[in-house]
Amino acid sequence: MTLSVAIIGSGPAGFYTADAIVKKFADVQVDVIDRLPTPFGLLRAGVAPDHQGSKKIGRVFERTAQRDNVHFIGNVEIGRDVSLAELREIYDAVVIATGAPKDRGLTVEGADKKNVIGSSRFVGWYNSHPDFASLDVDVDVESVVIIGVGNVALDCARILALTPEELAASDIAPHAEARINAAHIKDIHVVGRRGPVEATFTHKEVSELGELARTVPLVARHKIPDNADACPPEERKGKEANLALLRGYADNTRDMKPIGLSLHFYVQPVEILGGERVEAVRFERTRVEPDGRCVGIGEFVEIPAGLVITCIGYQSIPLEGAPYDERRGLFRNDDGRIEPGLYCTGWAMRGPTGTIATSAPDAEAVARHIAEDVPNPGKPGAKALIGLLEERDAKLVSYEDWQKIDAAERAAARERPSPRRKFVRIGDMLNVVSKS
Ligand SMILES: Cc1cc2nc3c(=O)[nH]c(=O)nc-3n(C[C@H](O)[C@H](O)[C@H](O)COP(=O)(O)OP(=O)(O)OC[C@H]3O[C@@H](n4cnc5c(N)ncnc54)[C@H](O)[C@@H]3O)c2cc1C
Repeated sequence: MTLSVAIIGSGPAGFYTADAIVKKFADVQVDVIDRLPTPFGLLRAGVAPDHQGSKKIGRVFERTAQRDNVHFIGNVEIGRDVSLAELREIYDAVVIATGAPKDRGLTVEGADKKNVIGSSRFVGWYNSHPDFASLDVDVDVESVVIIGVGNVALDCARILALTPEELAASDIAPHAEARINAAHIKDIHVVGRRGPVEATFTHKEVSELGELARTVPLVARHKIPDNADACPPEERKGKEANLALLRGYADNTRDMKPIGLSLHFYVQPVEILGGERVEAVRFERTRVEPDGRCVGIGEFVEIPAGLVITCIGYQSIPLEGAPYDERRGLFRNDDGRIEPGLYCTGWAMRGPTGTIATSAPDAEAVARHIAEDVPNPGKPGAKALIGLLEERDAKLVSYEDWQKIDAAERAAARERPSPRRKFVRIGDMLNVVSKS
């Protein structure tokens, strides 16, 4: 009998898992379901629009999607169009690969002021995610504060710092491009509560800051440790390389370019200041204790800010019928197994850490668990799901439909090297499908 597997979410974790499953089982049908008409999750809507090289891994997922025994079913949200319980009735195994799309909130006073915004919304806005097309974010401010010192924080900073010429080569959302090009930003402050060794940004992202046309990276020399001995030996080489870059940036001066991008370390936000709208952020200086704890030291500084972007992590959105760990913001699981027949993978399993490739081993584990747990497959799978969705008048998007959307986006690119002009509204994507 054919094993039927439904994967909820078509991001990197979903496609790695589909690939691992079709390689493990001789007779299997895998359906990869996504709430959007477009596949690939954060590869499309997270990875920065000027980082087209990082998107090349998508070719691997495209190959998986085109296998005879893998089907993409887009524009179907589990929990809205079909329940998880219904899906489990229909499929031998169900894998949750829904990522971690919700911002972890900043819990300081004033965090609800206007123009304080989480990075998942800000990134979704500049990357044409349909959920955030109408987001009202004002980037025409003199000073921006970005809270967090990981790669997402540096992505947000860099996108605001790029010139119109640099942005023209990307596939940034037209609405975001227009606003960023018209803005008069002078200073971008990227702020972390710990030091440069603890910061999670990677060498490539830090080095790009030194190559921006109109923006100069700045850092106070006394905040840069002499060495990276505080971190585990396997990370030391990479961290030393980051410190060397930062030492170079410490020689820069604010007058070198029109925009200053300042990296601040050992400060934590304690209050967002202003009226209805943010005007500044108050920070407390910190110290990292020998046991790794970060503690405030009772000295305070204020940084002016007309826009604050928080990049302090993400959490998964619970699905009725799947046990959820509120504290960690992910599905309760043991190495990807929630219970026999129900699994999770990628950010929904591990939380928001690591790169795209980090999800590949998670996928192998899920395929192994399914082999152990489902000795007697035979549930109907796709046929039953599609019947159910048709009864409910859902407008399914197949992989072939997505290829039409993809072709229309590529054709609409302004000019090379911009790869595509993304649709931002689901209705416009569905129009392409229904017209063809
Ligand atoms: C801003 C940003 C930039 C990044 N840049 C890079 C980079 O340059 N290089 C790199 O290696 N990594 C990068 N990453 C990390 C990388 O994107 C993640 O490791 C990876 O996307 C996680 O994959 P995932 O499949 O678990 O989740 P996601 O990619 O988030 O995929 C989840 C999918 O599930 C779908 N979904 C959610 N809920 C439902 C539902 N109820 N029903 C149906 N479908 C649903 C979503 O629409 C989405 O398509 C970046 C991350 C962020 C946030």
